[in-house]
Amino acid sequence: MILVRAIEDFRRALRDLPRPIGLVPTMGALHAGHASLVEASAKECATTAVTLFVNPTQFAPTEDLARYPRREAADVELVERCGGTVVFAPSDEEMYPRKTTEVRVFEVSELFEGQARPTHFQGVATVVLKLFNIAQADVAYFGWKDLQQCAVIRRMVEDLNVPIRLRFCDTVREPDGLAMSSRNGYLSPEDRAVAPLLYQALSRLREVAPSKLDAALKMERQSLERAGFQVDYLEVVDVETLRPSRTALALAAVVAAKIGNTRLIDNVRF
Ligand code: AMP
Repeated sequence: MILVRAIEDFRRALRDLPRPIGLVPTMGALHAGHASLVEASAKECATTAVTLFVNPTQFAPTEDLARYPRREAADVELVERCGGTVVFAPSDEEMYPRKTTEVRVFEVSELFEGQARPTHFQGVATVVLKLFNIAQADVAYFGWKDLQQCAVIRRMVEDLNVPIRLRFCDTVREPDGLAMSSRNGYLSPEDRAVAPLLYQALSRLREVAPSKLDAALKMERQSLERAGFQVDYLEVVDVETLRPSRTALALAAVVAAKIGNTRLIDNVRF
């Protein structure tokens, strides 16, 4: 296992390692969801590079950047256990000596998370394109847990002709259905107990006929609110465009809701 912090060292390490190279971008505080991405890459690629970088540009000033969990030593161990080859853990200064260029993906980034977090996907697209350019990997692995992020990255790769293959991996869940997230640690025991209701609501929506979805969405939103959630959005969308849809070839029910002080997102694809 190689741990590097400088872009030049990361590039040098990757130059000498066998292809195909799989890249797994993360913000660290790794859990079984991240592990599944590393394992998928280790299975399909000769070299697996994992990046640990809490990207400041995807956090708004009011968000949890300062208290976002950081546990590098445990992360490096997990990557090693899952078959990773290199960990790249740069400083903010290494990644952003200047901030004079940004990548902005229109349309797919505008609704849902884009409404709640207006500059979030600019930060994501910019850091992901930088990591793609730095690593020159063959394949990149992302989780469907962040479905809109997948759509934004796919669109960026298509629009900018980025030479990389994308693999999206299924959401790993706790036994009670809660999607694993580095932010689940913020939940109080009471909030943790109701958090699985999100996945239950999404799973029920998957079973609803298209003509009954509007009514079902209204009902599910109300029952989440009764359970104490502040629902930001609950919708059925086209997976590629992130526009509300009842008829697209690939649909997903998407939700964001606050319980206590913690904002959770989840989705289920149909
Ligand atoms: P993050 O560290 O939260 O930026 O996530 C890094 C990558 O792991 C992203 O592609 C996420 O979508 C993915 N990921 C996060 N949680 C899960 C999960 N529960 N199951 C699968 N992938 C996940």
